Amino acid sequence: MTRAVFLDRDGTLNVEKDYLRDPAELEILPGVPDALKQLQDGGFKLFIVTNQSGIGRGYYTLEDMHRVNTHLTGLLASHGVRFEKIYFASEAPEAPSRGRKPSPQFLFDARDEFGVDLAESYMIGDKLIDLECGWNAGVKQSILVRTGYGAKIEQEAGNKLGPAIVVNDLAEVANLILRQANSPSLPAEEREALFRKMEDKGWTWRDKFIHAPNSTIWFHGSSPWQGDLHDFHYRMAKRLEKLPKYRSCYSTVEHYQRVFDDTAGLVAILKQLVDSKK
Ligand SMILES: [Mg+2]
Repeated sequence: MTRAVFLDRDGTLNVEKDYLRDPAELEILPGVPDALKQLQDGGFKLFIVTNQSGIGRGYYTLEDMHRVNTHLTGLLASHGVRFEKIYFASEAPEAPSRGRKPSPQFLFDARDEFGVDLAESYMIGDKLIDLECGWNAGVKQSILVRTGYGAKIEQEAGNKLGPAIVVNDLAEVANLILRQANSPSLPAEEREALFRKMEDKGWTWRDKFIHAPNSTIWFHGSSPWQGDLHDFHYRMAKRLEKLPKYRSCYSTVEHYQRVFDDTAGLVAILKQLVDSKK
């Protein structure tokens, strides 16, 4: 199975500068080389998927873009980081394009050319089109970084962020992905049995939340939760952070993760909660 991390370029790997065309202006974001190396060492193939409409708009040439890419990959190669391929869409936004994000086409190309299992892969970027590209391709998760335009998008996108996870930077992306990759999923039968028991006791699933019978405990999950528990942990932690009531118990994501840092621990706590509710 070939797993991959697809990465937007500007604002995700390097500092966003409007229509970057000069390699001398390229600035790799802090923590990016280490994060990429960790992902690569963790068994993920790395791809860049970049919209370069500046070419179609006539702001710079294809050669300019290749020079920037060569400089970027050269700098990262000195940290042992290797990209399988850089996919780029050079067209202006209104022009027809085979792969311009949010099209999933380049991810499909990587699937066909490199045997990438998209359902076990990730799309990372600083714009909604990056997230949408991942969703359109059926990746395991689209992740928004707060670098580049990301922080602004997070403020403005509202529910368009959907199931995306938002993290500060690529270092956090690597932590999250590697934690998920190394965490065993709860076996399907056990999960179903737990859900059935919860439902029997009056727990309900609505709007991506799990409601306890007395309505005081809301867990944020995805329908009710699919996939591995680390994703669920993370979402739950982010949700709890926003509930003042729980702030004293789970003040930060890190604290939450210390408490629930293993699948067995989470399941045990859910079982306890279920058993304690009438
Ligand atoms: Mg970008």
